Amino acid sequence: MKKIFFLLTSTIVFSAQQSFAQKPDPAATEVWQPEPKIVTTSEANQTPSDAIILFDGKNLNEWLSVQDNSPAKWDVNNGVFTVKKGTGNIQTKKSFMDYQLHLEWQIPANITGTGQGRGNSGLFLASTGKGDDGYEIQILDCFENKTYVNGQVGSIYKQSIPLANASRKPGQWQTYDVIWTAPRFNDGGDLLSPARVTLIHNGVLVQNNTVLTGGTVYVGKPTYKKHGATPIKLQAHGDKSEPISFRNIWVREL
Ligand code: MG
Repeated sequence: MKKIFFLLTSTIVFSAQQSFAQKPDPAATEVWQPEPKIVTTSEANQTPSDAIILFDGKNLNEWLSVQDNSPAKWDVNNGVFTVKKGTGNIQTKKSFMDYQLHLEWQIPANITGTGQGRGNSGLFLASTGKGDDGYEIQILDCFENKTYVNGQVGSIYKQSIPLANASRKPGQWQTYDVIWTAPRFNDGGDLLSPARVTLIHNGVLVQNNTVLTGGTVYVGKPTYKKHGATPIKLQAHGDKSEPISFRNIWVREL
């Protein structure tokens, strides 16, 4: 009995000592530096204070014609700009690596056509050439308009099917919010890390940190070709349907 009592007491004493010595200190896991920078938004203007404004409703001063680097020729009217077919793709003057992008677009209410020929445009997350070279997030009227699913709105064209179809009716404004991580290459041009993208369409997650297998191609398999910082590009697609419009575009470099 005495032995048991001794064992019991010594266990209690030992445990007490141990818990005193190893008492977890919450402060030991608190990190105070570096402090995240302060970025503000307001109810009136939701554009983050550190965003680069790519279109403020007034002009296309931040954009160039991809073909010849002349000023972008798409039409600006009433705070929005509209694809001018036949003048080709446009891209930003500035180049970017990793970023957060906000973009709003509208399929015209009187849209006609079917499949890929109905309000087709595209957001090239990195423009790597004069044509449709880069990594295209499809823009298309997919409100009751069927097409191949890896080419529908919110897809990474011919690479990744969107998780949902969040399309609004033609005539309504729609939003894209993108988080883009550019691919990295070594000096020899070998891929070190692939591109990744998260896309939220009208508030709905449609690409969740999707890993890209290369640049978008219309025919064949995507492959990577070395590039660094690049412009962001918008597509003037060659189909015959009514041209789509854009407004309120901003980007935050990461
Ligand atoms: Mg397209």
